Amino acid sequence: MTEERIPVIEVTPPSEVGEIDLYQKRERIYTRKVEGFFQRLRLYTGWPLLILYFGAPWLNWDGRQAILFDLPARKFHIFAVTFWPQDFPLLAWLLMIAAFGLFTVTVVAGRVWCGYTCPQTVWTSIFMWAEQVSEGTRNQRIKLDQGPWTVNKVWRKSLKHGMWFGFAAFTGITFVGYFTPIRALVIDLPLGQAGMWANLWTLFFTMATYINAGWLREQVCMYMCPYARFQAVMFDHETLVVSYDRKRGEPRGSRKREADPKALALGDCIDCELCVQVCPTGIDIRNGLQYECITCALCIDACDSVMDKMNYPRGLIRYTTENALEGKPSRIMRPRLAGYSLAVLVLTSLFLSVLFNRIPVGIDAIRERGQLFREVDGGLVENVYTLKIRNMGEKEMSYRIAASGIEGAAIVGPTRVTIQSGDVLALPIALQVPRESLQGNSNADVLFTVTAVGQGGIRDTAESRFLGPGPAR
Ligand code: SF4
Ligand code: SF4
Repeated sequence: MTEERIPVIEVTPPSEVGEIDLYQKRERIYTRKVEGFFQRLRLYTGWPLLILYFGAPWLNWDGRQAILFDLPARKFHIFAVTFWPQDFPLLAWLLMIAAFGLFTVTVVAGRVWCGYTCPQTVWTSIFMWAEQVSEGTRNQRIKLDQGPWTVNKVWRKSLKHGMWFGFAAFTGITFVGYFTPIRALVIDLPLGQAGMWANLWTLFFTMATYINAGWLREQVCMYMCPYARFQAVMFDHETLVVSYDRKRGEPRGSRKREADPKALALGDCIDCELCVQVCPTGIDIRNGLQYECITCALCIDACDSVMDKMNYPRGLIRYTTENALEGKPSRIMRPRLAGYSLAVLVLTSLFLSVLFNRIPVGIDAIRERGQLFREVDGGLVENVYTLKIRNMGEKEMSYRIAASGIEGAAIVGPTRVTIQSGDVLALPIALQVPRESLQGNSNADVLFTVTAVGQGGIRDTAESRFLGPGPAR
């Protein structure tokens, strides 16, 4: 009988285990500038968004700011349309469409939103550009940071922070300009007449931009953005991601340009680390897909430039799918993609139908609380109401007011009113009904209708209660 050997597991005594620091200090990332197709593509997507963001609040429409979210007046103006609190469901629908739209894009092309259009990415790129202008190339920046404080260093750092702060202030003022008229804001702010809230919010958004794009950068994507965390559940084997072709690249190793990699038993990766140096999140894509990757494709541009110099085919790092990398057949339409696309289609259709069938008038009827009812001459019972009528259209309108639901009901007070665009009229009225119409009931339903004059039947209704004396004793 052979002697069974018991495996021995060596355990390091606790005294010899090094201290583990659960909070790791951030290693500063010095990104290298890179040129290439995807960097140009990022410019083409980033610039229109910047122009839209900074330009939109300066547009005018019909004598007012075209896009103005007027919170004190509870009105959102977007070109010809004014949205009221009653339109809140439309905003909820819009957010749902945006969320499902993002899911759909993510299933197809991964985190393409993060890499090309996310404000954090676009603003960080501008701040990185300012850094390069003021402090120089990657190597110059590393040298500057490691060197002593000199006049040159103080000047370059001041220039960088001045540029960052200027752009952050420009961003903050523009953001607040969506909520308060921007033409007045840019005059009032330097004169100190903008008001406490405008000053506070401008300062808040300026500092938020300065800190997020200047200091936090990739940490926002890695630790603060929830999208980075749950994106993986939307990925499948057909999702387009930035990938390193391990089969082609390994084993990696440096070599002379004219050397034959096959003779050296090497793959196409020359281990130059350029793909790591250009990465804004500081990861090595050769280690596989990582949640830090924002799919900006800068490593593709870097690697393609290396492949060109080595006379190797481009695409060692490329946009591809897991199936394509493994040589498996691809299919474009998958159940998940079909589901998300259908959700976007249905939600968009419903949103548009609600938007275009929106009624630009609203009425609320509020019963006078202090008085139940009053019996008046002629066998009539009277209740008092305040009607709140909103003109949600873009021009002054005349409205007819009527009451129904109880036979013989008559309004005592104006039955035709004119309201300016965007105004709310609080109209006190009395409603009188013959006592016999109540048929001994102590209350009955009444319906107030407001109809826009000459507008093809645009109307809104509000229900209320009419109180009476009840059965005769
Ligand atoms: S790995 Fe490549 S695509 Fe991903 S974040 Fe870094 S540079 Fe961008
Ligand atoms: S840039 Fe290309 S060649 Fe250079 S290390 Fe990265 S993958 Fe390898």
